[in-house]
Amino acid sequence: MAIYKKGSKGEEVKEIQRKLKALGHYKGSIDGDFGKGTEEAVKAFQKSNGLTVDSVVGPKTWNALFEEKPDQPSNLKINRTVRLEAKDYIESETPKDLIVLHHTVGGTALSTINYWKTDPQRIATSYVIERDGEIFEVFDPKYWAFHLGLKETGGAVDKRSIGIVIASEGGLIQRDGKLYCFDVVSERTLFTQEYYDHGMPWRGYRFFDAYSDVQIKAIIGLANILCEQFKIPRRTPANHFDADDSYRQFAGILGHHQLRPDKSDVNPGFPWQKLVEACRLELV
Ligand SMILES: [Zn+2]
Repeated sequence: MAIYKKGSKGEEVKEIQRKLKALGHYKGSIDGDFGKGTEEAVKAFQKSNGLTVDSVVGPKTWNALFEEKPDQPSNLKINRTVRLEAKDYIESETPKDLIVLHHTVGGTALSTINYWKTDPQRIATSYVIERDGEIFEVFDPKYWAFHLGLKETGGAVDKRSIGIVIASEGGLIQRDGKLYCFDVVSERTLFTQEYYDHGMPWRGYRFFDAYSDVQIKAIIGLANILCEQFKIPRRTPANHFDADDSYRQFAGILGHHQLRPDKSDVNPGFPWQKLVEACRLELV
């Protein structure tokens, strides 16, 4: 195969730039011109993948770049066409060392985003994952918004964290062998999709809307990119279910339920083990 290095031009160079950008190594434009910026990005990629650091894309680097790893979609697409306005978040750049996972209760990604636009409290997260796995980035994750509801901390944890919300129906109630969402038994709230059964009550619910495989794939891909881009420590608590005040100082990846004992997002059906393996997280 061909070798791409400084001075190379063309479609393949664009492919390389796109990929490096998605991985958070490349900040320049996708111009198909292998210049200084592309060279630096290739170097960073080679370094973080244990390859010879020569800033040349030969067969080994090419394969490492484009090899389809399970649960690490190489072509993670992020929809940036629906954005919040500056009044809806805090446009001040803060260092990040934490990712917090949430789910919505009811609603699509777009209805959630539209609701945030009408809410004056600047509650939002950078990312919303639709049921079909589409990732919406509604503001640049280098900025921040309130998403944790830890009032007594004055936003200290919100400031250093990136929120990801999974579109979901949340906890479900059971009546006469049927499941319902919104805590309401009615024809309209009858739940007929795939569910997760925890086997026992947890935070008020035994049954939950199951996160879809494509949503989990999207989270894994996104978490990988964000850990790389913001140097977020690749770690998560070994205890996946309980809240603890000490997590307010935690750096790594958490569920909202680990920061607040009154929250049931993410639900206990979340496949933490998959995330741990795919993002090479340390259990602490
Ligand atoms: Zn939440």
